Amino acid sequence: MELLKHRILQDGRCYPGGILKVDSFINHQMDPMLMYKIAEEFINRFKGTHINKIVTIEASGIAPAIMVGYVMQLPVVFVKKKKPKTMENMLSTVVHSFTKDRDYTVCISNNFLTADDHILFIDDFLAYGNAALGMLDLAKQSGCTVAGMGFIIEKAFQDGGNTLREQGIHVESLAIIDNLDNCEIVIR
Ligand code: 5GP
Repeated sequence: MELLKHRILQDGRCYPGGILKVDSFINHQMDPMLMYKIAEEFINRFKGTHINKIVTIEASGIAPAIMVGYVMQLPVVFVKKKKPKTMENMLSTVVHSFTKDRDYTVCISNNFLTADDHILFIDDFLAYGNAALGMLDLAKQSGCTVAGMGFIIEKAFQDGGNTLREQGIHVESLAIIDNLDNCEIVIR
């Protein structure tokens, strides 16, 4: 997606350890006009796929997911990173956070992720694929179908994309970063 690539090159910042900071337009301050275009691009890439629900993980997946849900007129559910006392029929799994370097238990209610669902999972980044693998575990527990997974930015050098594609998942990434060596952003 050319618009996104230009924006990453213009406003993205590189951090040691293979971290790309996009907090001026994606995951802290957000550009809703860009987010709308991102949603349209996701919808285009998954055209013809049966989807009845958008699922994401808090916090930074929520903005693109709600935009996709709004345009497609579909409900959006987010996987929670804290277990609420009141959640009914909780499904949970453990995810390793790449940016925070710790494990945490994430959960979703089986009331909102069921065997009848055909979900599109949306997130801001695909790095090692830990969040996505956690989602696949929750999906398996619920019996739902994962129709596809869409990421705004995939860091190809961290291999999560290969792991998911090898499992036969339809993965779409709107910008693919080949490397961030020497703090230079190399986009495919
Ligand atoms: P993964 O689970 O694929 O290893 O990492 C994906 C998650 O970690 C995303 O939900 C995202 O929030 C965070 N993340 C991974 N890499 C980056 C990065 O380079 N920059 C930012 N801002 N977040 C990242």
